[in-house]
Amino acid sequence: MSMAETLLIDGQWRSSADGATLDVINPATGEVVQTISQATVADAQAALEAAERAFPVWAEMSARERARVMHRAMDIFRGRLEEAARLLTLEHGKPLNDSRKECAYSADVIDFYAEESRRLEGTHFAGDLGPTHSFVLKQPVGVVAAITPWNFPIDLLAWKLGPGLAAGCTFVIKPPSEAPLAATLFVRSFVEAGIPPGVLNIVTGPGRTVGAELVTNPISRKIAFTGSTATGLWIAEQAARQLKHVTLELGGSAPFVVCDDADLDIAVPEALRRAFSHTGQICISVNRIYVHRSRYDEFVARFAEAASRLRVTADGIAEPDADMGPLINQAGLETVRQHVQDAVERGATVLTGGRAPDGPQYARGYFYLPTVLTGVTRDMRVMREETFGPVAPIAAFDTLEEGVRMANDSPYGLAAYVYTSDLDKAFYAAKHIRAGGVGINVNDITDIRGPFGGMKMSGIGRELGQPGMDAYLEVKHVRVRVRPPR
Ligand code: NDP
Repeated sequence: MSMAETLLIDGQWRSSADGATLDVINPATGEVVQTISQATVADAQAALEAAERAFPVWAEMSARERARVMHRAMDIFRGRLEEAARLLTLEHGKPLNDSRKECAYSADVIDFYAEESRRLEGTHFAGDLGPTHSFVLKQPVGVVAAITPWNFPIDLLAWKLGPGLAAGCTFVIKPPSEAPLAATLFVRSFVEAGIPPGVLNIVTGPGRTVGAELVTNPISRKIAFTGSTATGLWIAEQAARQLKHVTLELGGSAPFVVCDDADLDIAVPEALRRAFSHTGQICISVNRIYVHRSRYDEFVARFAEAASRLRVTADGIAEPDADMGPLINQAGLETVRQHVQDAVERGATVLTGGRAPDGPQYARGYFYLPTVLTGVTRDMRVMREETFGPVAPIAAFDTLEEGVRMANDSPYGLAAYVYTSDLDKAFYAAKHIRAGGVGINVNDITDIRGPFGGMKMSGIGRELGQPGMDAYLEVKHVRVRVRPPR
């Protein structure tokens, strides 16, 4: 693979049909990390056709054979995990330890689903009316368009490839233009592991042209998308016209509810990590903190003090254990600035942060300090929209019912966190908060075995766990008349 031959179509590494290239920028320094090919619509079409040709080949292989390729690919990938993690840090800005964690988890997801495919079972039953027997076949949905964002470019791809490949689907992948490098290396491991040509294709290019072609072209039968709610809504509309399957993981605005009996030794550091790691650019990042009034002052003081001590790095490789890096781009930084400004204009107080860090090393990147706001109200943009940045607004509540109402006061419903020592309160909150995942005294709702996805404007469908596999399968009812022997 030469430097600009970074598209994968029908098993061949290629440059784009019109020779166009794309500079991948390090958001911490503004420097070009690598120049790669930028796909055209014609490339996307060629990739879809290759995936269509490869579908019967891959779908007909036994689950055991597919699992072998997937495991082999991850053995190869683990051998280059450090290279992938460094690339990820360069293109995204996150500290190296966070990149390493993402790479390792992605490999685990592929391995997990390789095994799951071997345990796929259907059902059989004797007919209800007459002498028939029925069984239910599970078959792969077909060609999948996987469109992924820049915040977890490998992980969120693995969540789609793992179950989809295991089920027997073939893929055209459109990685994010901001961070396509590590994801491409991830896919290269499958090619080197001997995956048949056309099973995986990569067309890095603009979402509005290349991504749109993957969505609207009749060859793709499923769109697996993670990204903004605006793009997800457009995809849902297009997919509906052809009744394609969709899994949409969209934006979030996760509430973090601290009850009167919460252990702050746990709640403060956990809120801190989930609000500011990845510079707040996670769909399950903590966006709104609600604290019982009896613990409000104590929580705010401890949280703001700890936030002011977080380490922001302009070189995530030299400082692998820093707390956060830059935002991904100028637009991301602008959103953060505007949300903070809007909050201040409406009466919020900035306890810490609220500006870029000082120092020449931060001058060329998209940096913003961990920011804590108090005096916030529900009409502020920071409480209503997805900031996708390092901003934590904190408000008080008086009863748990009120805390839960405030947690639900959002168009989004992806993740929520509740900290309490009382089982009854935990159950009440878990039951009544409208979110696809609720963490009780834990700040991450991700587990390979558990379904991950959103309610309300946070999306439709689930990834991971068994539902994550079902999302790549059609069920077919086969009904057989059984006649007595003649
Ligand atoms: P987008 O939803 O625009 O991008 C996500 C992916 O979709 C990218 O690969 C993008 O391509 C592609 N895409 C964009 N438009 C289309 C289209 N019409 N058809 C098909 N694919 C398309 O999000 P952004 O990266 O622009 O981020 C904007 C905001 O979205 C963030 O600030 C954040 O609020 C939210 N977001 C939420 C994420 C989450 O995890 N829930 C992840 C990322 C963003 P390309 O960018 O290469 O043009």
